[in-house]
Amino acid sequence: MTMLEIKNLHVTVEDREILKGVDLTIEAGKVHAIMGPNGSGKSTLSHVLAGRDDYEVTEGSILFNGVDLMELEPEERAAAGVFLAFQYPIEVPGVANMTFLKTAINSQRKARGEDELSTPDFMKRVKAAAEKLSMSQEMLRRPVNVGFSGGEKKRNEILQMAVLDPKLAVLDETDSGLDIDALKIVAEGVNALRSPDRSFIVITHYQRLLEHIVPDVVHVLAGGRIVKTGGKELALELEARGYADYVEAA
Ligand code: ADP
Ligand code: MG
Ligand code: MG
Repeated sequence: MTMLEIKNLHVTVEDREILKGVDLTIEAGKVHAIMGPNGSGKSTLSHVLAGRDDYEVTEGSILFNGVDLMELEPEERAAAGVFLAFQYPIEVPGVANMTFLKTAINSQRKARGEDELSTPDFMKRVKAAAEKLSMSQEMLRRPVNVGFSGGEKKRNEILQMAVLDPKLAVLDETDSGLDIDALKIVAEGVNALRSPDRSFIVITHYQRLLEHIVPDVVHVLAGGRIVKTGGKELALELEARGYADYVEAA
């Protein structure tokens, strides 16, 4: 089943065209990696999927499970199952992680017309997610991200993802300078959450991350277009040869 279908997507930021006709189809249950040189529009694509302001879609379409994503507000997209991992996780002093998660999950349920989760049901869900990710529950009582190390923030982000249980998770790691421990946390989290009805877009220019998250499909985004698509071996080829061929072609 097709989960995401992007056709001829053109996006302008501050009067500059950044995406120039992106075509991308993602089947349910698949992990797609998007690689490419700096400034090629990778983060722009993830922001457009999440529905951030400042990005103007001038042409093309995005269907998510058959629904026109452009018609949905950011909160509605989240409620429909689109999750964008934060590149720079925000700190929320005074709000326990647990409370933050509960608010997030219940606002999504509300948007879907579902009842709020009771506290015991919520606790069960968080516990199951923490267990699946082999995480301690100590972090849940601390204020959101305050004083967390880089690795703990990543872990927390993965926990948010597990609890919210998205259909499409977009991880834009490009600029976050992940060290090897953080890479492993992200990879283990993604691998634990892989399932036939969930898809991932993993945006990275580290081939290293893809040693731990083995993608089903790899795309090269250069000059605002997908210029090459292949299997996991494409990531290795890019690691060896760099993006120079694609930058010139774009
Ligand atoms: P990548 O993630 O592939 O490095 P980006 O999508 O972040 O690329 O950026 C693509 C281009 O769009 C860059 O030239 C960047 O400066 C520009 N850009 C992205 N977001 C904004 C913004 N909010 N305001 C102005 N320019 C932006
Ligand atoms: Mg075009
Ligand atoms: Mg980026």
